[in-house]
Amino acid sequence: KNITADEIREVVSKENVQFLRLMFTDINGIIKNVEVPVDQLEKVLSNKIMFDGSSIDGFVRIEESDMLLYPDLSTFLVFPWGSEHGKVARLICDVHNPDGTPFAGDPRNNLRRVINDMKKQGFSAFNIGPEPEFFLFKLDDEAKPTLTLNDKGGYFDFAPVDLGENTRRDIVLELEKMGFEVEASHHEVAPGQHEIDFKYSDALEAADNIQTFKLVVKTIARQHGLHATFMPKPLEGINGSGMHINMSLFNDNKTNAFFDADAEGQLSETAYHFLAGLMNHARALTAVNNPTVNSYKRLVPGFEAPVYVAWSGRNRSPLIRVPQSRGLSTRLEMRSVDPSANPYLAIASILNAGLDGLAKEQEPFPAVDRNIYRMNEEERQENHITDLPSTLHNAIKALEKDDVIKAALGDHLYRSFIDSKDLEWAAYRQTVSDWERDQYLELY
Ligand code: GLN
Ligand code: MG
Ligand code: MG
Ligand code: MG
Repeated sequence: KNITADEIREVVSKENVQFLRLMFTDINGIIKNVEVPVDQLEKVLSNKIMFDGSSIDGFVRIEESDMLLYPDLSTFLVFPWGSEHGKVARLICDVHNPDGTPFAGDPRNNLRRVINDMKKQGFSAFNIGPEPEFFLFKLDDEAKPTLTLNDKGGYFDFAPVDLGENTRRDIVLELEKMGFEVEASHHEVAPGQHEIDFKYSDALEAADNIQTFKLVVKTIARQHGLHATFMPKPLEGINGSGMHINMSLFNDNKTNAFFDADAEGQLSETAYHFLAGLMNHARALTAVNNPTVNSYKRLVPGFEAPVYVAWSGRNRSPLIRVPQSRGLSTRLEMRSVDPSANPYLAIASILNAGLDGLAKEQEPFPAVDRNIYRMNEEERQENHITDLPSTLHNAIKALEKDDVIKAALGDHLYRSFIDSKDLEWAAYRQTVSDWERDQYLELY
């Protein structure tokens, strides 16, 4: 998808684009926008748009606050929904320092750095196919989200009259207008919960797509009078929302490095080493893949989310599953990731974990094809099954001890991430919940 500055100028005038939205992502995975009127186009194209970095979470201190936006032209896109003020186009940008060098605190620059390390090791692409899940809630009279779900559907339910079905269909249509190849879209297990899977792409584009996806889902849901949320566990007692990450490494010659037609199970040595790397760094990875206090309310037994570090080719309870498909579609599926993760940080960390397993030629413990939730602690120990961290606090402690995942973030992002998460945990610790009052107020 190579597009030149001239082509952008042409589309902008032909389609009556009035505003340019320059997008980047902060450390918490939140999309930030600088919107400029179209007469700034030349300034945009020559990387001259500045913004105040000190007002963005985890970016820079006040003294060094002017940052530059370098648009990635290949991400140019006119939003299909118009407004009375004409159309809006977006460009995803890299953040650069005032002297023009790439800013190390930008998650997108950082992912590119880790991808370059991968390329030095002879791979051409890290393909990522995400499976984001989300809930649709009704809005109240003031257009604020409520906790009322918009349907009573269940997994793969066919309920053409419900609001969710139409909203999801509209979302899929908008995504396709924007160039997404949607592979599947279905109602999830919980009422009001949906999943839309789109075609895999190379790591950087996949992370961009995840961000765009969330924006589209929220925008179209609003148009239907609904609030879409990617919060990992909005309601207790029913499933939370995950974002399974399917992944494979490709070689220069466009062959899947995880596939080996002659090997047992047709998985290559590369796949096994990569898998071992994911398992060995699983606890630290959790901090990045499940970065909110709420993420850990999802990672509990009984709701199809992983709780233990194990892998399997058959059952779906473990952290990593090897789906049956082989050939070009050979892949590993990491099931812990949730959609509150910053996709740039998550993919960089996952990649570095796998590459570490490869570099050290690590072997994974054998697959666990039994239901782990039926095992007792001793049986889990015999099978080398460890726990995922049970709280954000424990995950952060694991991250602090893991040099490979720290290196995946780089110094700047690692420091900002830890600072931001320490604050989040400290704030959470101060709170007293309804559950506690229900349990203790009268008992003691
Ligand atoms: N919602 C489940 C989770 O939290 C996944 C359900 C599924 O895709 N089978 O990961
Ligand atoms: Mg799925
Ligand atoms: Mg699912
Ligand atoms: Mg899945």
